[in-house]
Amino acid sequence: MKLPRVDDVLAEAVLAGHRVVYALRKRAVQARLAELRARREEGEAPTAEAVARTVAGRLDELVRVRPEAVINATGVLLHTNLGRAPLGESAVAAMVAAAGACALEVEVESGKRGSRMTWVRPLLQALTGAEEVHAVNNGAAALLLACTTLGRPGGVVLSRGQMVEIGDGFRVAEMATAGGVRVVEVGSTNRSHVGDYAAALDAGASAILWVHLSNFRQTGFVHQASLRELHALATERGVPVIADLGSGSLGEIGDEPTVQSYLSEGADLVTFSGDKLLGGPQAGILAGRTELVERCRRHPLARALRLDKTGVAALHATAAAHACGTALPLQARIAASVAELRGRAEAIAAALGWPASCVRASEATIGGGSLPGDVIASVAIAVPTEHPDRTARVLRMGTPGVIGRVQEGALLLDLRSVGPDEDAGLIAALRRVV
Ligand SMILES: *Cc1c(COP(=O)(O)O)cnc(C)c1O
Repeated sequence: MKLPRVDDVLAEAVLAGHRVVYALRKRAVQARLAELRARREEGEAPTAEAVARTVAGRLDELVRVRPEAVINATGVLLHTNLGRAPLGESAVAAMVAAAGACALEVEVESGKRGSRMTWVRPLLQALTGAEEVHAVNNGAAALLLACTTLGRPGGVVLSRGQMVEIGDGFRVAEMATAGGVRVVEVGSTNRSHVGDYAAALDAGASAILWVHLSNFRQTGFVHQASLRELHALATERGVPVIADLGSGSLGEIGDEPTVQSYLSEGADLVTFSGDKLLGGPQAGILAGRTELVERCRRHPLARALRLDKTGVAALHATAAAHACGTALPLQARIAASVAELRGRAEAIAAALGWPASCVRASEATIGGGSLPGDVIASVAIAVPTEHPDRTARVLRMGTPGVIGRVQEGALLLDLRSVGPDEDAGLIAALRRVV
């Protein structure tokens, strides 16, 4: 098979006039030709024009807006692979407003250097009840910063029952110690007592680390010294209790602990994510005693982990929404009644001319390392298809993409993780495909 020459493919009109720069076009053509060569197919070679068309299509894909917006119909509200919490309108507007020059670290009145936390601080202090707060890039960064700052020289004590692995193979104990601080493991998988912690502190440990069992539960013959007990011990020994909460709820959601409850039970410093139950952007928040937060803020790592201006903007808008009692999309989705979801599902099915039997009871989850095992009653639309996996793929690749869930041979679109403002887009996407 005689393949066309690189220059001939590049000279084809679809590529010669393509908006992508020449070097990239050339690379893409070379890559495509190498692919065809590797296949060693018999018969007619593709024309220069055919190769050019394929390459042009790939280049278009490469430079269009990414990550593209999708509709999360998985029924998992905080889906890490789908960007976790959907931002509220005010957070989106704040990010756009901060895109250009913005008063990020300047006191406009005096013209002097200010702090990017100036406006976020008082809101998060009031909402969490913490003496002081600081925000960094994400929850893992907050944990790393806290342990690196406060865990020297003797390391942090951690129960073997709290050695949590979160998504993608990352382990909390490893993240906490990535800054060179030692973990002093105590207790057993199922039982850890105050005395275990006391012995580790006697041996010179510098802080206690408490990790919320965000994505699993233990039952049976289990015991974990409580935060209150550890607080009493830590106070006596003059070391801090760092509590990695992860989820970071400010209000009651199931039996998920809140930031306030951790602080009142005796955590000296709580770390949590901005894009889990807080319903905001990716961020990591440290909330607790002034002296501890201040030490973390002054650590050189804080500079490496700092939150960018659009994150600051969205975090501020999210905190302001909590402060004003404005429902954020995540909170609205959690609170939606089953009747409401059913009404929407029926309207969508009717708009598509699908039978009412497509509308089914379903079970959604919050996800994002919160409320493991808990489900929320929900409603799903079962897509009428003979090939659920194939249709799921076609839907994912639509515009907008729709991400459903295949369960017991049915392709389900769970409405609890879909905003009511997305229904029209969902109908349009389904109409194009099914
Ligand atoms: C999610 C989570 C983290 C990591 O937070 P990110 O914001 O994803 O970096 C750390 N610890 C716990 C317990 C978590 O649930």
